[in-house]
Order: sequence, then structure tokens, then C-alpha cells
Amino acid sequence: MPAYRSWGRYPAGSPSAVLPVVWRSDPPALDRVAGPVLAYACGRSYGDSCLNDGGTLLDVRRLDRLIAFDDSAGLLRCEAGVTLADILDVIVPRGWFLPVVPGTRWVSVGGAIANDIHGKNHHRAGTFGRHVTRLELARSSGERVVCSPGDSLFQATVGGLGLTGLILWAELRLKRVPGAGIAQERVRFPSLDGFFDLAAEDDAWEYTVAWVDCLAGGPRLGRGVYLRGDHTAMEGPPASPVDGTRLDIPFEVPAGVVNRLTMRLFNEAYYRRQLRRRQRKIVPYAPFFFPLDVVGDWTRLYGPGGFLQYQCVVPEAPAGGPIRTIFERISRSDEPASLGVLKRFGEARSPGWLSFPRKGITLAVDFPFRGPRTLALLDVLDAVVRDAGGAVYPAKDARMSAASFAAFFPAAPRLEVRRDPKYSSSFWRRVHAA
Ligand SMILES: Cc1cc2nc3c(=O)[nH]c(=O)nc-3n(C[C@H](O)[C@H](O)[C@H](O)COP(=O)(O)OP(=O)(O)OC[C@H]3O[C@@H](n4cnc5c(N)ncnc54)[C@H](O)[C@@H]3O)c2cc1C
Repeated sequence: MPAYRSWGRYPAGSPSAVLPVVWRSDPPALDRVAGPVLAYACGRSYGDSCLNDGGTLLDVRRLDRLIAFDDSAGLLRCEAGVTLADILDVIVPRGWFLPVVPGTRWVSVGGAIANDIHGKNHHRAGTFGRHVTRLELARSSGERVVCSPGDSLFQATVGGLGLTGLILWAELRLKRVPGAGIAQERVRFPSLDGFFDLAAEDDAWEYTVAWVDCLAGGPRLGRGVYLRGDHTAMEGPPASPVDGTRLDIPFEVPAGVVNRLTMRLFNEAYYRRQLRRRQRKIVPYAPFFFPLDVVGDWTRLYGPGGFLQYQCVVPEAPAGGPIRTIFERISRSDEPASLGVLKRFGEARSPGWLSFPRKGITLAVDFPFRGPRTLALLDVLDAVVRDAGGAVYPAKDARMSAASFAAFFPAAPRLEVRRDPKYSSSFWRRVHAA
């Protein structure tokens, strides 16, 4: 059986059975399946929201067909297992782009809907789910439901963590672009205040994000590199997004190699890599959006214990407020935090009851899993997020408590009512443990 892991490789969890889903016209009958079921697509979720320990996984990767494309309106209908990479490969040469892309193109449409993913253009476009015009859901009762924005089942399904049934296909509204390039600007900033100064200019750019050195403290706290860009034409042959990986990590790096010292050196090198404070150039869209996709299996760098990604969103406050506190807690801890990804989310309302994005500042950062001390730090961060009225992203989570989840997602009981009774995940059971 192929591995059905999550991206962070923590926690472990094995399904007792896997059913492939091949035909959208004939999804597997679930009446004879014992125990809970859950769809599994590309496994790009970090924690346990794509795992169903002891239950059945529905492997949807063969639901991979494009169904229809209206080139004049930019409406694309495709099966839920189609990856964003496959879509970009077809639409970019025709002058279209996906409305929202995450930091990897190896994500399925069903996974993008189930986690209502966000990208570098959240301040303009909101989440992926805002651009879904219809989808079809197969419920375990055998019922098939086509739903669209405004339907409560749609609002439960977008950001619904795969718990409302099996998404068979979806229709997406694409956006026109002038070409396959990105006019990119990188600006180094020396501290968190510098980040906020640059974020104040976000409206002038379609895509914005910052890489931040989470280990720097004192006056350098929150220093990093701001990346922003707009679509543009690109000279030369079109760059295919499906160009394979260029570098592979051939073996698992032994535990302990990623430590505070190696991370500090890496972060310093990243910060200093750019000699001039401001750098402009036109780049193909793939390295701009998906820088990590060129390294195959990079999660092996974290060693056999796997790693945890922590992503939170907190309201913006004068002088940084909760996000400054979070940086302080991380930089003063012993944990070897990776470079963090920092972004200001915009005002756009997310369409799902359990969508994670909301107005504020979001930070995503990786920690090699080093047992209780890693978990203890993340509990401290949860408390800061909770007190600030923010949330932690379930797609990246493997450890938040039931109490934290209830505080971050007060609409969870609504989803529980619309959840397909046959569907559950390791995550859902964990955050509902008594
Ligand atoms: C390098 C990297 C960068 C990332 N960057 C971002 C980012 O910038 N923004 C962001 O929001 N996320 C980001 N992510 C997270 C990723 O986008 C989400 O976890 C996404 O949901 C993964 O999709 P998947 O196809 O791998 O689905 P899986 O991880 O396999 O499953 C995710 C969820 O979708 C459900 N699901 C999948 N298919 C179906 C279906 N057909 N019907 C019903 N439910 C289904 C599963 O049950 C599960 O609950 C990143 C991940 C990685 C590895």
C-alpha cells in the first residue's frame, strides 16, 4: 500500500483500508464500509486533517479529469482530484490563471476547497472558495448534491475539512493574465516595523508575502525579505509548471542536524543573500509562487521525527501587538524555528463556516518535532492567539487542544450538524475528544 502520510509526517496514522475513487459517475458505495471514511488527495496537509487512523481513506487521485472550459468566461469544470499544477499547465498558455494558489502547486482542487486555501493575493482575492461557482458532493447515503455559494451545504463544505462528503467535481472562475511572468520586487526590511511599513503598500500589488527570520531577537526582531509581484508577459517559451523537481533530498537527515545553530546560519544567509535593499526583476510564475516545489521531498531535512508547521492569524494591533509577542516567544525559546512566512490578510469574508483566513496578520513557521518541548512552545503560542481572538490553521495542525479549537472556530458545532455521519478524520476526533 502506498504511504498515506501527511506532509509533516507527524503524527503517524494508518488507515485500515483504502478505496480508490475512479469514476465521478460511480463513487464507492459506503453502506458496507465499517468505521469512518475520509477523502485523501495529495497529502499536502501537514498535520492529521488528511488522516483517518484506523478508518477508510478514499483515494481521489484518479479523479483527475478536466471536464469543460469556457474560454470566453474563464469558467473551468474539473474533477476534484485534478491538481493545481495540471490546471496551470493548460490554462496559462491560454492567458488564464487560477484565482488563488498556495505555496505548492501539488494540491488538488478538492483539497483546496476542503481547507479553503489562501495565497499571496488574499488581500485582493480572498480565499479559493470565493471563486468556486458550483461543486458536486456525494453523501454516504447515496445522495448527490450540486451546491453553490449561498447554499448552507456549500458553506459547510468550503473549509469543511472533507467532512461533508466526497467532492466529485467543482467549477472555478479563473482570471485573465497578460502572460506567464511575474514582475517581482524583493525588499529587505530590518525589523517588524519595517514589515508593517511595507504591508501598508499592499494595495498597490497583486501578490505580497514576507519571509521572516524567526530566530532574530532584540532590535532585529521580525526582520526579513518582502516579496511582491504582479502578473506580466514573459519573453521566450512558456514555462511549464510541470517541470519536475530539480533537486532531491536523497536520504533522511539524522535527527539533530536541524538545530538552532544551523537554522540561525541559514536564516542569516537568506537575509544577507540580497545585497541591495530593493531588487526588481521579471521571473517565471512557478518559482515566484512555488519556491519549495523545486526541492523534492524536502521534509526529509527535518529528520525521522517529522516536523510541525504552526500557522496562526491574529488581529493587527499598534506596535505589532500579538504578532510581536509570538515572535518574542519563538526567538526566546530553544526551538529551531525555520524562516517564517508573514502576510497581512485582507478584509474579504471567507465563504466557509470553518475557513481559517480572517482579517489580520498570519504567520506560518516550521519546527522540527522534538517532543514535549516543541509541543509546550506551541501551547504557549496558542494561548497568545486565543487571547487575541485569532485562530490556528487546521490544515497545518497536529496538536491543538479541543478547547483551543472551540475558541478558534466557534462555528464548529454548525459543521458538526452538516457533517456526513460516515465521515471523520484523525483531526476531527482529536479536537472533539472529551
Ligand atoms: C509546501 C506547501 C505550501 C503550502 N502553502 C499553503 C498556502 O500558501 N496556503 C494554504 O492555504 N495552504 C497551503 N498549504 C496547505 C495545502 O494547500 C492544504 O493542506 C491543501 O488542502 C492540501 O490539498 P491536498 O490535495 O494535498 O489534500 P489532502 O491534504 O490530501 O487533504 C486535505 C483535506 O481535503 C480533503 N479532501 C481532499 N480531496 C477531497 C475530496 N475530493 N472531497 C472531499 N474532501 C477532500 C481531505 O479529506 C482533507 O480533509 C501548503 C502545503 C505545502 C505542503
